[in-house]
Amino acid sequence: MEENLKPIPFNKPYLTGKEELNIKQVFQNNHLSGNGEFTKKCQNFFETKFGIKKALMTTSCTDALEMAAILIDIKPGDEVIMPSYTFVSTANAFILRGAKIVFVDSKKNVPGMDEEQIENLITKKTKAIVPVHYAGVACNMEKIMSLAQDYNLYVIEDAAQAFDSYYIFENGEKKALGSIGHLSAFSFHETKNIISGEGGLLGINDKRFFDRAEVIWEKGTNRSAFFRGEINKYGWVDIGSSFLPSEIISAFLFAQLLEYENIQAKRLLIWNNYRELLSGFNEEFSFPEIPSFATNNAHMFYIVANSPEYRSKILKKFKTNNIKAVFHYLSLHKSDFYNKNHDGRKLENADKYSNRLIRLPFYYELSNADQNRITDILK
Ligand SMILES: *Cc1c(COP(=O)(O)O)cnc(C)c1O
Repeated sequence: MEENLKPIPFNKPYLTGKEELNIKQVFQNNHLSGNGEFTKKCQNFFETKFGIKKALMTTSCTDALEMAAILIDIKPGDEVIMPSYTFVSTANAFILRGAKIVFVDSKKNVPGMDEEQIENLITKKTKAIVPVHYAGVACNMEKIMSLAQDYNLYVIEDAAQAFDSYYIFENGEKKALGSIGHLSAFSFHETKNIISGEGGLLGINDKRFFDRAEVIWEKGTNRSAFFRGEINKYGWVDIGSSFLPSEIISAFLFAQLLEYENIQAKRLLIWNNYRELLSGFNEEFSFPEIPSFATNNAHMFYIVANSPEYRSKILKKFKTNNIKAVFHYLSLHKSDFYNKNHDGRKLENADKYSNRLIRLPFYYELSNADQNRITDILK
């Protein structure tokens, strides 16, 4: 129909221009494997800027979550509470260690999990709560941390989408997401705000995990302590895997981190522009709500159609106009892999977002003209 329209992709990775310089520096350093200059710079950045006690670069957020599951000693039969409306990695990391996943519904007006439902799901076997800060919007961390304290549970934040986003405590104190739970996991996949192609980071806020995390990170050896000169030989001391990324990945990431304020400011402009262009059009769909305890890191802009049929209609319209809008997360409790293990509770809000949410194209270089074209379709 309108095939001469320029395609608008869903995502376009943004390069700061300094990535190549940093990678050249890696070649000059003659240190291509992990845990060199750039690995340390990235980790230090997360520790100083976001108040994470100890940060370890990983090859993905998925890997960081897997490390977290090993660190809290998940054993077959342990129960882990998390939202159903999330990416598969949130659950897979714990399934790999034999856990049973207990799914929580989303809130009515926010895709993040409904904290009010957590307490009823806690049993003697519960070991951890895994809040997912969907779209970078904080879960109620005060509520979750207090439940964890009352029932002696670990909290692992899936902060894949939550770079430079914050939780505002009742007393006004502001803390970066990823710095509150015992452990946390970030993603630098090319669809996130700050990228390295593939990449991730484990945040460790509980000192008890510091030493063992390094061992698991380095294939179950105490190599890190050896290189710091703390021991005079290194060997196999625990389970572990190859979670540490190459310096090339960290060098790329560090270029992005140095530009993060610029990247975040631009994304926020794009987000606010969408919201403004669509103001007054809330008959057929609803907009993201940001709770008063959360901030907006402009990770994504989504709308929620009033019915699945209406979503299909909108997506079709986008397609004929050469615009790539997407939906995501088939609720995990209904997945082919896991539905047989779910306890049968209806999770209506998770299903609602599964069936009705649409993500609009969102990337640093998205122009005003393209945003007009996208929102005109909705109007
Ligand atoms: C992107 C994402 C992940 C996975 O991140 P990778 O770095 O690709 O492993 C996990 N959880 C959530 C909520 C995500 O959005």
